[in-house]
Amino acid sequence: MGKNLVILGAGCAGTMVANKLRKRLHRDEWTITIIDKDDRHVYQPGLLFIPFGIYQPEEIVRSRSEFIARDIRFVIDEINHVDTEKQRVETMAGSYPYDQLIVATGVELAPGEIPGLMEGWQKVAFDFYTLPGAINLHKAMRTFKGGKLVLNIAEFPFKCPVAPLEFVYMADAYFTERGMRDAVEIHFVTPLPGAFTKPKASAFFSRLIADKDIKITASFDLAEVDCAGRKIISAGGKSMDFDLLVSIPPNVGARYLVRSNIAMDEIGYVKTNKHTLEAEHHQNMWVLGDATTLPTSKAGSVAHFSAEIMVENFMRVLHGEAVRPDFDGHSNCFIETGFGKAALIDFNYDYEPLPGKFPLPGLGPFSLLGESKANHWGKMMFKWVYWNKLVTGEELPLEAQMSLAGKIQD
Ligand SMILES: Cc1cc2nc3c(=O)[nH]c(=O)nc-3n(C[C@H](O)[C@H](O)[C@H](O)COP(=O)(O)OP(=O)(O)OC[C@H]3O[C@@H](n4cnc5c(N)ncnc54)[C@H](O)[C@@H]3O)c2cc1C
Repeated sequence: MGKNLVILGAGCAGTMVANKLRKRLHRDEWTITIIDKDDRHVYQPGLLFIPFGIYQPEEIVRSRSEFIARDIRFVIDEINHVDTEKQRVETMAGSYPYDQLIVATGVELAPGEIPGLMEGWQKVAFDFYTLPGAINLHKAMRTFKGGKLVLNIAEFPFKCPVAPLEFVYMADAYFTERGMRDAVEIHFVTPLPGAFTKPKASAFFSRLIADKDIKITASFDLAEVDCAGRKIISAGGKSMDFDLLVSIPPNVGARYLVRSNIAMDEIGYVKTNKHTLEAEHHQNMWVLGDATTLPTSKAGSVAHFSAEIMVENFMRVLHGEAVRPDFDGHSNCFIETGFGKAALIDFNYDYEPLPGKFPLPGLGPFSLLGESKANHWGKMMFKWVYWNKLVTGEELPLEAQMSLAGKIQD
């Protein structure tokens, strides 16, 4: 009897792992099925560039089918429920038994969780984490006459924790280039005590914020948005007015995970072994990408590095061997800083982002915790790498585990 591997979600993590495992599993033995609700794969790092008119929407959306190997069954349908006892996935129109399951359904935005936010959603309060949001925000930016632009992070964790910083750095460049920077106050309002989670990176990003005359308000726990009065209000009763609100609303896991009692709680993430990528409380289940509880960034780079480790562990399980705790939380990310420059961070569970050169020690060409034009070109070239190498499941010349080579430690 053939066996079934079912992969939930054909985004960054699901597509990549499907293609990687198709190369490793015998076709006669294993059928691979991947399920997603639509056939539109969005290159999400490109969403950052839409509000500034740098990318057009059609440049960052491709058909998912283009990137899923032919001998993988691609089902377009909404996942409704997973019965973990019977090992079966229910979609709106079908039912799929599994021997092994990979959960890779990412996160969704939940603006409705913040009282008042929906009243001005996509009218005075915008997001750039979805394609429609980024397109609407582009229109709002283009017609903005000046005033107070507030970027507010509602709560942690959320995907790509550097993207809000990139947004305010790029807004500074955008309004400068349009000759109206003096007419725009840019505010970065975060629940964190500083610009970022890790001390060295936080100090670096704070310096850039100060250099660009962006105002920062830290430790602001959003309680409510008054869209009519154009104010955000914190749990402690502080309020800040805005003319244009760019919101990072709460991120939650897919709702079927909560309905199926797979998620840890109502927020919807699946408790994941942070070193092996197995689901902690469910048999024959693995978790990848933003749906996990890994204590590192929710980022495509993490999906990539952890998928490499997961695939090896998956093969070990099939061969009756023990899994290995090899995933070290490796994450890296280019951070666009405006005016044709970017920074880069590379870190893991044990090491915070450090300065230095990457990937070649001493040579780079990329600078860690430093701005450069080379970093910017690295960021822009990544779109090609994403479509042509990453989601197709090819090996990239980057180690899954973080290396200290080229990094400067105190
Ligand atoms: C603005 C922005 C900028 C970013 N920049 C970077 C960056 O520079 N570098 C970086 O590493 N990462 C970046 N990221 C983060 C990166 O895009 C995500 O971490 C990555 O996409 C996670 O992959 P995933 O497969 O877990 O989730 P996704 O790629 O979001 O895929 C999840 C899939 O599950 C599907 N799905 C969900 N629920 C259901 C359901 N019920 N039924 C059927 N299908 C379902 C969705 O349709 C989706 O296709 C950025 C993200 C954003 C929003």
